[in-house]
Amino acid sequence: MPAAKPGARTSSNPGPDQQLTPVMQQFMAAKRQYPDTLIFFRMGDFYELFYDDAITASRELQITLTARDRERTQPMCGVPYHAAEGYLQRLLRKGYRIAICEQMEDPKLTKKIVRREVTRVLTPGTALDSSLGQEQNNFLAAFHQDGQTAALALLDLSTGEFRSAEFSGANAHQLALDELLKAQPSELLLASSASEGFAAELNRVVTRTHVEDWVWTRDYAVPLVERQLGVQSLEGFGLAGHPAAAIAAGVVLHYVQQTQKLDALHLDSLRFVEFADGLQLDQVTVRNLELVEPLVSGQDNRTTLFHTLDCSQTPMGKRFLRAAILRPLYDADVINARYTAVAEAHGDLLRREDLRKALSGILDLERLLARLSLDSAGPRDVAALATSLVRLPGVLHAASAMTAPLWRELVGRLDTLTDIASLVQSTLTAEPPLTLVDGGAIGEGVSKELDELREISRSGRQSIATIEERERARTGIGSLKVRYNSVFGYYIEISKSNLAMAPADYERKQTLVNAERFTTPELKDYEVRVLTAHDRAIEIEKQLFAALRKSVLEAASRIRRASAVVAEIDLLAGFAHLASVRGYVRPVLVEEPVLEAVAGRHPVIEHWMGESGSGRFIPNSLYLDGAGPSLLLITGPNMGGKSTYLRQAAMLVLMAQMGCYVPAESLRYGLVDRIYTRIGASDNVARGRSTFMVEMTETATILNTATARSLVLLDEMGRGTATFDGLSLAWATVEFLHAEIGARTLFATHYHELTMLTEKLPRALNLRVAVKETSSGIVFLHSIEQGAASKSYGIEVAKLAGLPKVVLERARHILKQHEKQERRSVQVETEEPMQMTMFTPLSQRIVDRIAETDVNSLTPLQALNLLEELKQELGETAGFRS
Ligand code: ATP
Repeated sequence: MPAAKPGARTSSNPGPDQQLTPVMQQFMAAKRQYPDTLIFFRMGDFYELFYDDAITASRELQITLTARDRERTQPMCGVPYHAAEGYLQRLLRKGYRIAICEQMEDPKLTKKIVRREVTRVLTPGTALDSSLGQEQNNFLAAFHQDGQTAALALLDLSTGEFRSAEFSGANAHQLALDELLKAQPSELLLASSASEGFAAELNRVVTRTHVEDWVWTRDYAVPLVERQLGVQSLEGFGLAGHPAAAIAAGVVLHYVQQTQKLDALHLDSLRFVEFADGLQLDQVTVRNLELVEPLVSGQDNRTTLFHTLDCSQTPMGKRFLRAAILRPLYDADVINARYTAVAEAHGDLLRREDLRKALSGILDLERLLARLSLDSAGPRDVAALATSLVRLPGVLHAASAMTAPLWRELVGRLDTLTDIASLVQSTLTAEPPLTLVDGGAIGEGVSKELDELREISRSGRQSIATIEERERARTGIGSLKVRYNSVFGYYIEISKSNLAMAPADYERKQTLVNAERFTTPELKDYEVRVLTAHDRAIEIEKQLFAALRKSVLEAASRIRRASAVVAEIDLLAGFAHLASVRGYVRPVLVEEPVLEAVAGRHPVIEHWMGESGSGRFIPNSLYLDGAGPSLLLITGPNMGGKSTYLRQAAMLVLMAQMGCYVPAESLRYGLVDRIYTRIGASDNVARGRSTFMVEMTETATILNTATARSLVLLDEMGRGTATFDGLSLAWATVEFLHAEIGARTLFATHYHELTMLTEKLPRALNLRVAVKETSSGIVFLHSIEQGAASKSYGIEVAKLAGLPKVVLERARHILKQHEKQERRSVQVETEEPMQMTMFTPLSQRIVDRIAETDVNSLTPLQALNLLEELKQELGETAGFRS
C-alpha cells in the first residue's frame, strides 16, 4: 500500500541468520513491534536510524548516510536529540510514522546494555505540529463501512475537536468520502481488510494506516468511547442508534492510545453530526468554489472565500469560520437568530469594537489545553492559557451589552473560568520559564517549604560573597574567587602567581593553566546544603506544577466549552464587522424557493479587486424562482463573466446560510439544501478518469440527487466531447433539470443552440453577458442582461490573448466556411432529420407547426398553402428563395 511509506521492504535490513550485536538486537525488536515506522533509536546524544530507515531518512532529510560497519552492510544516519523536533516535523509532513525508542536507564549507572523502549509513536494525524496554521485542523480520520452504512470519525488531537458521522442508503459511501476529503485529514485509519480499490479512491490522503479488523467491532470500540467520555451509554451524544459512527470513533481512540501511550484527558466530548443538518456541499463544489483552499494547491490563498471573510480575532474563531463555510446551516430559525445578532453588532460601532477588542489577544485555548493534556506543556504554556482566560470576563462584559437572543444565549453559556485563571496566576511566577529544569516557575507564597528552600539558596549566594570577602582578607589575595560549576561544585580559585599565599587548610581540587582550585570543609558543607536545597526546591516545583496541571485538566471540558462560545462570538462579531466595512446587507429568508439578488457582487473578486486596486466589480442582479424562472441559460463571450456570475450566486447563498450578511443591495432567498457545481474541466487521471468522464460523473450525481430545493450551477457542460454529442447531452440535461428536478439552476454555455430551449421550456430564461464592439475590438461590460448572445466572439478573445495574426486570419476564414456550410445544411434538413430538427430554431418551428396541424381536417388546398408558407419561411430565414 503506498501510504505505508516506511516499513515492509526487501533491501538492506538484516536477514534472519545475520549475527547482530545486542544493541542491534534491541533495534530489531523495536522494528518488529512497529514495522511501519521509522525507528528513532536513542544512543547518547543522538537519535540513530539504521538499515532501510536510515536510507529513507537520509534521503528525505538530506543528511549524510554512514554505516555501522566497515563493510557498509549496516547503513546508519542520525540527528542530535536536542535538534530532533525539526527533523521529526519534516518527516511527519511527508507522511511518515516515527517510533521514538528511548534509553530507559542512565548509561552511567549501569554496566550492562541500556534498556530501551518505544515511548511514543508520532504519526501525521496525531502529532502536535507547531507549524500548523491557526485556522487549520490536523485531523486523524477513521472510515468505517458496514454494508449500506458508512461512518466517519474525525479527531484533531491538537484542539480536542472530535466528531463522527454516519451515512446510509445508496449514496452513503460517496457522501462519507466527500465529507472525509473536505476535512483534509493528514492520516486516515482503515480496516486491514479494506480493499485496495477502495483505498485508491483516497489517494489524496497521503498517510493511510491499516488498523486490525478486530478493533473495528462494537464490543471493543464502543466501550472505549464510553470510557473516554466517562459515560455509561453514548445516547447522550446522539450515537445510540449509530453503531458504525461509534465504532469509527472508538478506532480513533484506540489509535491515539497506541501511539501516544497516555490518556488524552482533554478528549471529553464527541459531536455526532446528522447529515440532514446543514447545507450540503460535496468536495467537488468546495474545491471548485475555492471555499477554503485555492484551486491549485500552493497558490495564493487570497482567492478563497475563507481568506475574504476572515477577520477573526482568535484562532478558535478562525477554525469556526472555516467549519461554518464548509457546513452552512439549513435551519431557518438558527440562521435568522444569527442575522439578528449580527444586525445588533452591526448597528453599534462602539459595542462591536469593544467586543472585538476584548476578543483580541485570546490565544488558542484548545491547543494549549491539548498540549497540557498530552504532557508537552511547560509553565509558559500554562501561563499563556491563564492570560487568555483572564480576558474572558472582558468578553462577557462586552457581549452582555448586546440584547439579541443569540447574544444572550452565548453570554449565558460563557464560563469565564476566573477560578482557573486565578489558580494559575497565584501558583506561577509572573514570567515563568519555558521548562521546569532550572526552577523559578512557582511563585512565592505557594509552598512554605519551597520558600524556605529558596531562602537557603538565596542566603547561600549571600554566604558566598561573605566567604569570598573573608578569605581574601585572611590570605591577602585580592583576586581570590569563590565560584561554582556543575562538574566540580563550589571552589576557591587562586591564580598561579599567588599560589604561595594559599593557606595550608586549602585542599587542592583542580589544576588549570593559570590557576589552582581548592576547597575547604566549610565550603563542602555549604555545597551539600545549598545543592540539596536547590534539588529539593526543583522537586517541589515539579510536584506543584503537576498538581496545577491536574486542576486545569479537571476543568478541560469547561475550557473547551468556553472556547466554543468564544469562537461563535468571534464569528458573529466578524460578520458584523464585514457588514460594516464592506457594505454587506442582511438577507431575507423566505419559504418559497426563490433566489433574488439585487446588484449582487462576488465577495472574493470584489475584495481582491479592491485590495489590488485593479478596478471595480460590476454588480449584477439575479432572479430565480422554483415557480419560474427556475433555469437561466447564460450565453456570452469567453471572459465575459459567466463563471463569475454562477459562482457569485453560490457565494451569496452560502454566506446567507452561514448567517452572514451578503454583498448585494438586497437578497431574498428560500433555503437551499445543497449546492452542486459542474465547473471547468478537471482531470483525474490518477483515479483513472478522463476529463470527460469526470464531467459526466459529476453531472450524473447532480441529476440523480438534486432536489427542488437545490442550487445547481453548470458551467460549460458537454465541452469534453464531440460537438454534437456534447450539445445533445447538454440539451437533454437542461430538459431533465427543468422537467424533473425544478432546482434553481444556472447554466452557462457556449452552445448558442441551447438558447432556443427557452421557447419550449416555460421556466427557462435566456441571459447574456453584455459586450461592446468597438473598432479596436470588444470590451467586456461584465453586466448581465436578458436575451441570448448573438455570437460567441471566440476569435476576438483569442486576439486579446495574443494568438498570432496568421492563425486568427485563418480561423476567421474557416469560421466563415462553416457558417456557409451550416446555412446550406438547412436546405438538406430532410437528409439529417435528427440533428437539425433538434437544434435549429427555424426547423423546430416548422416541426412544431406540422405537429400542431390536424392533417385529417385539411382540405388539399389548405395543405398546399401550408406547404407554401413553410417553404417561404424556410427560404427567408436561410437566405435563399424558392
Ligand atoms: P469563459 O467562458 O472563458 O470561462 P467567463 O465568461 O466564464 O469566461 P469569467 O471567468 O467569469 O468569464 O470572468 C472573466 C474575468 O472577468 C475574470 O477575471 C473576472 O475577474 C472578470 N469579471 C467577471 N465578472 C465581473 C464583474 N461583474 N465585474 C468586474 N469584473 C468581472
